[in-house]
Amino acid sequence: MHKIIVANYKMNGSKKLYRSIQNKLNKLELKDTELILCPPFLYVPFFKLSNSNIHLGVQDVSNTIDRKSTGQIKPEMLKEFGVEYSIVGHSERRILGETDELVNQKIKVLLSSGMTPILCVGEQSKDENLSIVIKQVKEAIKGIKSHFKLIIAYEPVWAIGTGELPSVQHVNEVARSLKKILNKLDVEYKILYGGSISNENFQDMAKADIDGFLVGGISLEVDKFIKIVKGIDNE
Ligand code: PEP
Repeated sequence: MHKIIVANYKMNGSKKLYRSIQNKLNKLELKDTELILCPPFLYVPFFKLSNSNIHLGVQDVSNTIDRKSTGQIKPEMLKEFGVEYSIVGHSERRILGETDELVNQKIKVLLSSGMTPILCVGEQSKDENLSIVIKQVKEAIKGIKSHFKLIIAYEPVWAIGTGELPSVQHVNEVARSLKKILNKLDVEYKILYGGSISNENFQDMAKADIDGFLVGGISLEVDKFIKIVKGIDNE
């Protein structure tokens, strides 16, 4: 089955690091796995991807195409540089005030320009109820009537960068609940898991009923990242 692995480089990297990442990833031979690399905006034009299995994404996008939006970047600008995807609603942006309403606006802006959102959702702590995640998804896609594409990354906030992972059963339960909602809509979707994926744990988590991973920290360690990508591609 077609798998997706998203690399969220966050506010990391340098020209030197991205040159080395790019050289190594461009040489990868993949059977049925798509990589989506999400560097900081500034480094987007620096990426020269010659591998048809690798695509460019960013980590955020403007919630409006209003010209009076100092500091924002809109999809039309990103598309000029070959960007096809944008992460939306990452917990590290929600902390800064990205509300469900803003996430919904950003998704609509992306879809209206033909880009695909990578929507991040997840509960803050282990004892929180699954209904939080369901609500985040419902609010994010509210009011979208026509056919659309969406990648959802289920990322429990307590698992991001902590080395702690939920069980496969828990991830399956979340995926099952999301599918129940999404299957009623005119949406082509993929569900990924994100949070502390490493070389040690990716094979276990790959047993969950998901379509791939969103990888943060380890995506910067390109040799380790490649092992994860190859492991998933060979499944
Ligand atoms: C993330 O930033 O979304 C993420 C999953 O990070 P990490 O893999 O480092 O936990």
